[in-house]
Amino acid sequence: MPPNETRSGANAAIGMTRNQMIAHIRAADVVARDSVVHGHHPFGAVLVGPDNVILMRQGNINTVRHAETELARRAADAYPPEFLWTCTLVSTGESCAMCAGTIYWANIGRFVYGYEEAKLLALTGDDPENPTMHLAARTVLGSGQKKIEVHGPFPELEDELLAPHRDFWKPRSTA
Ligand SMILES: [Zn+2]
Repeated sequence: MPPNETRSGANAAIGMTRNQMIAHIRAADVVARDSVVHGHHPFGAVLVGPDNVILMRQGNINTVRHAETELARRAADAYPPEFLWTCTLVSTGESCAMCAGTIYWANIGRFVYGYEEAKLLALTGDDPENPTMHLAARTVLGSGQKKIEVHGPFPELEDELLAPHRDFWKPRSTA
């Protein structure tokens, strides 16, 4: 189905297998771990094109500038909305309301995430640098006029994806 016919209709993103999703989540995890090395929070996201090739990578910048929002904005600057409707944003964690909203406005047709917000909350608690919002990404994306596909969580990846968070938030909360 040509993507320009489906901008506000059914999802036009090209098929992606579960194994491909897992591979892309792991690529986002590499970005997340790299963010920590550069002094940022352990979050990462990648933009995947319709041919299943990674087009862009983005790590967390700070408390306001999350990986997914930054990536969705960069994507919207770089590509037309009709093309982005055939793309997938893949994130290590379930996106917050801000990020899910930006994915929506950028017209990215599919969202894939590894672990749920509730799992992260258990590690970050009320850390002022990451006071998570308990509002499901599916609820945010499901409240729009466009049918954006959502896949996640992937429980089999939880341990490895949350590992950098265990190392990151715990020493801070007990400091
Ligand atoms: Zn966010």
